[in-house]
Amino acid sequence: MENIQKKYIIAIDGPCATGKSCIAKLLAKKLSIIYVDTGAMYRVCAYYFITNNIKINEENAKKYMKEIDIKLNYTDGKIIIHLNNQDVTDDIRTPEISMGASDISKIPYVRERLVDMQRKMGEDISVIMDGRDIGSVVFPNADIKVYLDGDIKTRTLRRKKDLEKMGCTLSLEEIEKDMKKRDSQDMNRDHSPLIKVEDAILIDTTYMSVEEVVEHIMVIIKDKGIIKD
Ligand code: C5P
Repeated sequence: MENIQKKYIIAIDGPCATGKSCIAKLLAKKLSIIYVDTGAMYRVCAYYFITNNIKINEENAKKYMKEIDIKLNYTDGKIIIHLNNQDVTDDIRTPEISMGASDISKIPYVRERLVDMQRKMGEDISVIMDGRDIGSVVFPNADIKVYLDGDIKTRTLRRKKDLEKMGCTLSLEEIEKDMKKRDSQDMNRDHSPLIKVEDAILIDTTYMSVEEVVEHIMVIIKDKGIIKD
């Protein structure tokens, strides 16, 4: 596979459990480019606030965001996430931190700081970035924009499988309720809400495997002339 375009940005957005990070990770590997999980960055901030018993609000964000150092390291195809040199890779995936991330992501000051970091990450190199506002705010000029969606029941089942691997035994009803609440918060917030921008390609992942979605996006990338076989 030959890269025709020297530097390019791929933006993947969409609601919870549409397979964004899994798909982005596989694409990054195929394309030999960096994957940035922006949701993890909001999760790390929420984790810091929650574990230090700091109320999530704008005033505290201005006070404490400078204490938070986030590092995303790539080792053997796995992304290791550090908060102030502590490995929090697994700790940030709990339902409590998911909701905390959605709460903290409403705060404009937090968004500004993280968006700034995300733009720097894609300044000089090709990246594939997933989140809620990548195609709309972080990289409105991204070369490829994809919006992944899927039926809520299918997404709930996927999330349940992920949570079970971590030993979490929430019921399907609880998971669906949490996901609907989070999607609604993310779509209806004042700043950088989750939207499908006009130039994003919509892929409904309900009846597709991860591999099928990856192949579909690879075709889009080739059609755009970014790479060739
Ligand atoms: O993608 P993930 O589920 O890890 O994201 C956690 C939360 O972080 C989302 O529900 C959303 O509130 C927030 N987020 C965001 N903007 C992004 C990525 C994530 O607001 N670019």
